[in-house]
Amino acid sequence: MAVEATQTRPRPLLCGDAAERDAAGNVVLVGGRCADCGARAFPRSPVCTGCMSENIVAERLPRRGTLYAFSSVHIAPKKWKKPMRIGYVDLEGDVRVFTHLAGGEFSIGDEVEVDIGAVGEDEAGPIECFVFKRVPK
Ligand SMILES: [Zn+2]
Repeated sequence: MAVEATQTRPRPLLCGDAAERDAAGNVVLVGGRCADCGARAFPRSPVCTGCMSENIVAERLPRRGTLYAFSSVHIAPKKWKKPMRIGYVDLEGDVRVFTHLAGGEFSIGDEVEVDIGAVGEDEAGPIECFVFKRVPK
């Protein structure tokens, strides 16, 4: 007797394996660290931009950072949530992340934290990806 699936699998994140949850359930970004020179990058690249080594290991990045710059995009393909709020977040250390922003108003220098959020929607439902949200002061 065949068993029919009664549950649907959750839709994969738009960012694939670039984000995951830690043991406490918090969202963390997974970047790359060069095992030869120590340079970190996000997203993870197969080649180190510092020394061209291909010895890159996956590494979880700090969850919080500082908003370096941001903007709003009002014209985008149909599926994207508009206005699309995007920005650069500097994580502790040497990694700058290009990201969607979610929630309230932003100012340069705000402390922000990574989470999962809807960045668009289509016939299959919300399209989710990592986003950064402002940490309340
Ligand atoms: Zn390197």
